[in-house]
Amino acid sequence: MSDNVSRREFLAGGTAFLSLAAEMELLAGPIPAGMAEAGKADLVAPDIYFHEGQLADNADAVCNNGWIVFEDYVLVIDANFPAGARLIISKIRSMTDKPIRFAFDTHHHGDHAYGNQVYVESGAVPVAHTGVIEEMKRYETGYYDDKPGRWEDTAKERADLRTTRLKPPSVLFSKDLIFDDGKHRVELMHPGVAHTHGDAVAWLPKERIVFTGDVCVNGPYNYVGDGDVGKWVVTLDAVKELGAKIVCTGHGPRSMASVLDDQQAFFKALREQVGALMAEKAPEDAKGQIEAIRETLKGNARIARYVSERGANDGFPSQVEKVYEELTGKKLAALTNEHHFARHAHARSHGLGWA
Ligand SMILES: [Zn+2]
Repeated sequence: MSDNVSRREFLAGGTAFLSLAAEMELLAGPIPAGMAEAGKADLVAPDIYFHEGQLADNADAVCNNGWIVFEDYVLVIDANFPAGARLIISKIRSMTDKPIRFAFDTHHHGDHAYGNQVYVESGAVPVAHTGVIEEMKRYETGYYDDKPGRWEDTAKERADLRTTRLKPPSVLFSKDLIFDDGKHRVELMHPGVAHTHGDAVAWLPKERIVFTGDVCVNGPYNYVGDGDVGKWVVTLDAVKELGAKIVCTGHGPRSMASVLDDQQAFFKALREQVGALMAEKAPEDAKGQIEAIRETLKGNARIARYVSERGANDGFPSQVEKVYEELTGKKLAALTNEHHFARHAHARSHGLGWA
């Protein structure tokens, strides 16, 4: 394919190309990572698409999306923000007339679930693990109660929220939910507590593809505020046991099975370092170790890409803070203003307003 023809145009360009892609699949299994490009629909295997979002304040599609074209309908993985939902719906519409019937929220965060109402207006039903509703009740008090919640906070920053509303998922599963038309099979399942208390993944056993939501990211995108890092390490074992060959992460490029090991190795190393350098220290002294831990982790080539840089969107201090709390039961002493701002900027990019 020539450089000036995008992969999406290539895919939309004709059945000859599509059947070539299908032949490649037959010969070689799912198309490997490395051909993907942020903002472009990427054919992972026949009828299965991945779309890499951008974790930036002004982006339409923030989280990564996937969609599976079944015989009679389309299942979308993650609703994204409302602007992202509209973008993904238009991309699906350029490929198929089949109705978009389901939008699966991998978890409750705004960048994955705030587009639900847009999907409802397109005829789809938002689907999620029951834990997503429990988390929404905890944080979306503006919907469930009269105090402003995260939606209202995020609406101050994102105009696309002001033209729509929060729509909690209404088809719920407590363990798993299976879509199977004989040709394609997608198993939605809750592997355990990780990024939140209501995460679920989409497992495609025939193609050995897993869409992980933010249970696994590929880059410095981990937000840990609503989850449990210790349990997350264990939950990643459950996801690894599926035996995926292709891992479509919640943020960052899609990858191979090794990305699950890398994400897990990052959290293991973080827990080891915080345990060794901070756990015996009082909160006021412990926070002085953050930069030393950052440097140590950056020196580990396998996990260096998970360690954020100092600056506006630096999630690292809040990751250290969370692990310190989990290990000691104590709150870390107030972070510096720089860290305070960075922590909120990082949270905001996950659709969490300034909460
Ligand atoms: Zn996210």
